[in-house]
Amino acid sequence: MPRVTNAVLPGRAAPATILFENGRITAIEDASDVPAPPGGGGGEDIDAAGRTVLPGLVNAHAHIDKTLFGGPWVSAPQVETVAERVAHERRHRDAHGLPSTEYASALVEAMVAAGTTHLRTHTDVDPGVGLRGVAAVAEVARRYRGVIDVQQVAFPQGGLITNPGTLDLLRDAVDAGASVIGGLDPAGFDDAPNAHLDAVFDLAASTGTGIDVHLHDGGSLGAWEMGLIARMTEEYGLGGRVAVSHAFGIAHPPTRERLLERFAEVGVALVSAAVYDAPVPPLRACAERGVLLAGGTDGINDLWGPFGDGDMLRRAMLIAYRNSSRCDDELLLALDTVTTNAARVLGVEDHGLRVGGPADLVVVGARSAAEAVAKVPARDLVLRAGAVVARDGVLVGAEGGNAPLH
Ligand SMILES: [Zn+2]
Repeated sequence: MPRVTNAVLPGRAAPATILFENGRITAIEDASDVPAPPGGGGGEDIDAAGRTVLPGLVNAHAHIDKTLFGGPWVSAPQVETVAERVAHERRHRDAHGLPSTEYASALVEAMVAAGTTHLRTHTDVDPGVGLRGVAAVAEVARRYRGVIDVQQVAFPQGGLITNPGTLDLLRDAVDAGASVIGGLDPAGFDDAPNAHLDAVFDLAASTGTGIDVHLHDGGSLGAWEMGLIARMTEEYGLGGRVAVSHAFGIAHPPTRERLLERFAEVGVALVSAAVYDAPVPPLRACAERGVLLAGGTDGINDLWGPFGDGDMLRRAMLIAYRNSSRCDDELLLALDTVTTNAARVLGVEDHGLRVGGPADLVVVGARSAAEAVAKVPARDLVLRAGAVVARDGVLVGAEGGNAPLH
C-alpha cells in the first residue's frame, strides 16, 4: 500500500503517515505508530521529511477561456470601468485567437503543477463568441480529465438584458455542459437589476444549475443587489447553490453585518480573488457567522490585466494579507478559502484530507500549513487520486506516467 510518511498536516499536532489505496486515503496515523514495511522496502513510500501536506487546492473563480497564458505578451489597457474592459476585449479577442485551447491548456497545466485539483471557470457566452468558449473549455477539461475537475459557468460577460440573444445562448451552454449560470452587475453593467436576476434565477431553477454572479457594484448599490440575491435565493429554494463573486459592496459598513447574517441564513457564498485595491470580504467575520468565503484567481494574463500565475496558495496569501491577518488561526482560515470552502462552493463533496477521502495530496516546502500560506513555498509533489501528476512544478503525466498529458 503506498504511503506518505513524516507529513505535517493542517490541524494535526504530530507528524503523520498517510496510507492510500485505489486513489483513496485508507488511514492517517501518527508517524511513530506506523511500522516500517517488512524487509526495509517502502519502495512506494514518499517521505515528506517533515514538510506540509495539503489537500488538493480548489480555484473557485477563473476565466481560462480569456487567457493569453503561454502566448505572446499583450499589454492590457489602463482603463477604469468594467464596461471599458469588456469593450476592449470585444474589439481585440478575435485578433488574439481567443478563446484558445492552447493558452487555456497552458494555464491549466500551471494550475495543476501548483496543486489545483478542482476549478470553476466563467466562460463568456454572447452572440459574438457564441458557444466557442464553452466548447474550448470543454475540450481542455476532457484533455485533463482525471487530473483536474473543471466546472463551467455560462457567463454573460457582455450583458444579459442589454445584449439580446444571450439568454438563449446561456440555455444552450447548459445543454453543452455548463453547470452554473453567471451574472454580471445586474444594475451597474446591465442597468436592469430585477430583469437580470429574474432571468438568471429562472434559468438556474429550470435547468437545475447553480448561480455565480459577478458583482463589482460597490457601496449601497452593491449591498442592495446582494440583499435582492439573498431574498431570491430563499424564494427559489436555491440555498447552498448561489455565490456572489467579488462582492465589493460587502464592505459597505451600514449593511455589512446584516448581509453576512442573511447570507448565512439563506446559503449564499462569497468568492473573492482579492484583486487590486478592491474590497475583500472579511475573513474572520465570514467564518464566525458561517458564511462560506472561497478564493479564486479571476482572470490571468488576459486582455483585462497582466497578473496571475494560477497558484491558489498565493491567492490564499493575498486574501490573508488583504485581511491584515497575522496569526496562524487566520492564515488557516485563508487556507480554507482555497480548500474546504471552495470545494463546498463548487459542490464537491469528495475533498479533504480524511480517511475515505481522495488521495489528492500536495507536498509543500513549509513546516506548517500557516507557513505555507505566508510563504507560498514551491509545490514539491502533487498527487491526484494517489498518482503523482506533478513534481517540482512540472507535470509528469497521469496514471503513473503512462501517457504525456499534453
Ligand atoms: Zn471574474
